[in-house]
Amino acid sequence: MQYVSTRAAASAASSSPSNFSDILLGGLAADGGLFLPTAYPQVSGAELDAWRKLSYADLAYEVLKKFATDIPDAELRALTAKTYTKEVYRNARAGEKASQITPLRVLEEADGRKLVLQGLSNGPTLAFKDMAMQLLGNLFEYTLAKTGAQLNIFGATSGDTGSAAEYAMRGKQGIRVFMLSPHKKMSAFQSAQMFSLQDPNIFNIAVEGVFDDCQDMVKAVSNDLPFKAAQKIGTVNSINWARVVAQVVYYFRGYLAATGSNDEKVSFTVPSGNFGNICAGHIARMMGLPIAKLVAATNENDVLDEFFRTGVYRVRKSAETYHTSSPSMDISKASNFERFIYDLVGRDGERTRALFHKVETQGGFDLSGKPGSDGDEFKKVAQYGFQSGKSTHQDRLDTIRDVADDYGITIDTHTADGIKVAREHIEKGVTMIVLETALAAKFNETILDALGVDAERPAGFENIEALPQKFVVMSADVAKMKAYIAANTGL
Ligand SMILES: *Cc1c(COP(=O)(O)O)cnc(C)c1O
Repeated sequence: MQYVSTRAAASAASSSPSNFSDILLGGLAADGGLFLPTAYPQVSGAELDAWRKLSYADLAYEVLKKFATDIPDAELRALTAKTYTKEVYRNARAGEKASQITPLRVLEEADGRKLVLQGLSNGPTLAFKDMAMQLLGNLFEYTLAKTGAQLNIFGATSGDTGSAAEYAMRGKQGIRVFMLSPHKKMSAFQSAQMFSLQDPNIFNIAVEGVFDDCQDMVKAVSNDLPFKAAQKIGTVNSINWARVVAQVVYYFRGYLAATGSNDEKVSFTVPSGNFGNICAGHIARMMGLPIAKLVAATNENDVLDEFFRTGVYRVRKSAETYHTSSPSMDISKASNFERFIYDLVGRDGERTRALFHKVETQGGFDLSGKPGSDGDEFKKVAQYGFQSGKSTHQDRLDTIRDVADDYGITIDTHTADGIKVAREHIEKGVTMIVLETALAAKFNETILDALGVDAERPAGFENIEALPQKFVVMSADVAKMKAYIAANTGL
C-alpha cells in the first residue's frame, strides 16, 4: 500500500509515493498536504462475514494489514494484541463487557428506529483518542527499536489529546513527551490526569498563558528546522495517518456488532472537531462497509455543519471561536477535512492545493456551484453519505438530562451533541450508531449543571486530584522552552 499527498501533482503522485512506515513518524507531507493511500483497499462480503467472529484485536489486525503492508504480519498481529486488551480498556461501565473494547448499548428501539451508543472511551484517559493513540505508542516504539532512533514528541493540549498521548507513550523506549498546556486553564480532573504521571519520559509544561500561546510556542519550535532535526522533535496531532487508520477499525466493529448480515446498513453520528474521527468513517465507507449516512455533529463552532449544509467552507478566526461546554470540539478549522475534499474533487491534487491555498489566503472556499464559487462539487457530497447538524449548550444540558431520565446513563457533553444531532437524522430500518467520544467524569462541571449530581468516576480515578503532581511552570518564552527541551532530551 502506497501513500500520496493530497496536494501532489498528478505527475508526482505516480513517481514519489511512500509506504506506511515512511509516513508513520511524520506529519504533513513536504508540500503541505496530508497523506492518503493511492487507492482505498476494498473489503469483500466474505471478509466481512469472517470478521464478525473476531476479537477487537484480531479485527484491528485485519483492517490494519490492508494499510500497513510493509510491517510483517506476525509483528503487526503482536502489536494489535498488545494494544487492544481488556486491561487497557478497563473503564467499561456496569452492563458493558470490557473485552469488547468498544461495547454497544441500545438506547432506544421503537417502530423500526434504533439508536445505539458505541463506547469508545473505556481506555486510560476516558476519551476516544486512546483508541488510536495507544496503537500509535506501540507502533512508534516498534519502529524506533528497529533503528535505535529516538523521538521527542512535542505538542500543546487543552485536554484530551495531550493526556491520551502521555498515557500512550509513558515508559516507552526511545520516546519522550514534552506537552504544553495553559497554566490553570484545564479542569482539575484533566490536569490531575496529566500531571500525576511520574514517568521519567513525560514532561508536563504549564505555560503562563492561554492555549493559543501554547500553540504559538509549538509552531515557533517546529519552524526552527535545525533545532527540530537536532532534537528529533515529532508530533502526534490528529492529521497523523496511523491515528486515522486505527479509528477505521471501530467503524467495522460497530457495524458488525449492530448487524446480523451484510445486507443491513447502519449510519453513524460523530461528535466532530478536527474531522479525524469522521474521516475514518468516510474511509471505512470507501472500503465498502455498508454505511448509509455519516452525520457530523458540531457544537456552536459549526464550520463543518455550515459546509455540509451549504457547500461553503469558511474557517473562523480565533476570536470567533467559542469556548463551549464540549471543548474538544472548539475548533476554528478542521485539520483533516482536506482528506475528504481530495476525494470529493476526484482526487485532483492540484485542485486540492488551490482550494486550501485559498483557505490560507482568503479564509475558505465555496463549492456550492453558485455564480462566483470555486466549483460545484457540493452536489456530490450526498453520494458520500455526509450530513450534519449542530448543538448548543442548552441542547447539551437537555440531552444529558433526557438520556439520564430515559436510559439511566450519564453521557458526556460531546456525546450529548452527537445524540442531539443523531435524533434529527435517524431513519426507519437503519440503525443509528452514535460514537461516545468521552466519559462524563471528564466534564463533570457541566454534568453537575445538568443533573445536580456528580458524574460517576471509574474505579481508580476517585482521588486523582489528590495525587502528587509533576510539572514545571514556564512563561511563554520560546528561547526558554528550547533550552528546557535541549536540557532534557539528552541530545
Ligand atoms: C477530539 C475529540 C472530539 C473531536 O474529534 P475529531 O477527530 O477532532 O473530529 C470529540 N469529542 C471528544 C471528547 C474529543 O476528545
